[in-house]
Amino acid sequence: MSYFRPNIDELAAYVPGEQPAPGTRVIKLNTNENPYPPSPAALKVLHDLDADALRRYPDPMATAVCRAAGAVCGLEADWVLAGNGSDDLLTMIMRACADDNRSVAYPMPTYVLYRTLAQIQDARCIEVDFDDDYNLPVEALAAAQAAVTLVAMPNSPSGTVWPLEMLDDLAGRLTGMLVIDEAYADFAESNALSLVASRPNVIVLRTLSKGYSLAGLRLGFGLANPDLLAGLVKVKDSYNVDAVACRVAAAALADQDHKNANARKVIASRQRLVGALTELGFAVWPSQSNFLLARPPGGQAQALYQALKARGILVRYFKQARLDDKLRITVGTDDENDALTAAIRELLP
Ligand SMILES: *Cc1c(COP(=O)(O)O)cnc(C)c1O
Repeated sequence: MSYFRPNIDELAAYVPGEQPAPGTRVIKLNTNENPYPPSPAALKVLHDLDADALRRYPDPMATAVCRAAGAVCGLEADWVLAGNGSDDLLTMIMRACADDNRSVAYPMPTYVLYRTLAQIQDARCIEVDFDDDYNLPVEALAAAQAAVTLVAMPNSPSGTVWPLEMLDDLAGRLTGMLVIDEAYADFAESNALSLVASRPNVIVLRTLSKGYSLAGLRLGFGLANPDLLAGLVKVKDSYNVDAVACRVAAAALADQDHKNANARKVIASRQRLVGALTELGFAVWPSQSNFLLARPPGGQAQALYQALKARGILVRYFKQARLDDKLRITVGTDDENDALTAAIRELLP
């Protein structure tokens, strides 16, 4: 006997990356947070918040965020839907589109939450393997004809991107929804935003967690035509963006200069870290993100992960097929990255 639906009993809960207790001194390169502080303009809005903003319910549609995000992306505000992180948008999409009769497809390895959310809906997961170069398996994804197809671009944990034409081709061949999860777009040279206007089945997801240094605020948004968004609005929590997040996020989005300057620093540090790891004998995948997928010489990734952790340096290790000989390393400040590579130099045999 169980209180739960059978698929919930069978579900392996999603395990987020470790978050050390506040005050713990670690070099944290495991969950792709931005090493630089958020926009001062956004922090001022937070400090100046008036009591009434908290006494009242927030705007159910977070209109201020939709306007600010629309302005950044060159879209009207009604082409934007805000959520409690982009994870909230993913939840809405699965709730609205996936069930035991409507499947979910995505290339593997990718963001593990896609599988968890599909399983909560009791939807069949069609997992298509990437090849070792992380080419997008367009044919197999198109053949799957899932109700929801998800592609993270840049992909996590590989950091790789694909030509716009490939995603356009895929969108045109799917009868279901194509979700392009652009959590790391702020660090990439290209994105698929232009497909939103031309492809009625495409939704692009963005977040303030990575590029805007606001992972703790919980604000993400979806960009799609208003008809598609209307279906998601029906299943969202009534007040899914709180009053604080709504105000602070609108200010952060308006401060593109701050976000772009930090992204440029991260990209420069990424190039430096690629060089240092390559010199140490790592194989490093070409990343357009704020992290690197890297295979240590000999492939002893788990031992290295543990040895680094013992020295107060956290990176991400995935004990799963095709990743258990690699590490995903968030790009930190140059000082953090130097501490990492110095530790690795000592630890490698
Ligand atoms: C970090 C991440 C997200 C989640 O972002 P939130 O806005 O913090 O919920 C979504 N997709 C991918 C691929 C991510 O890496």
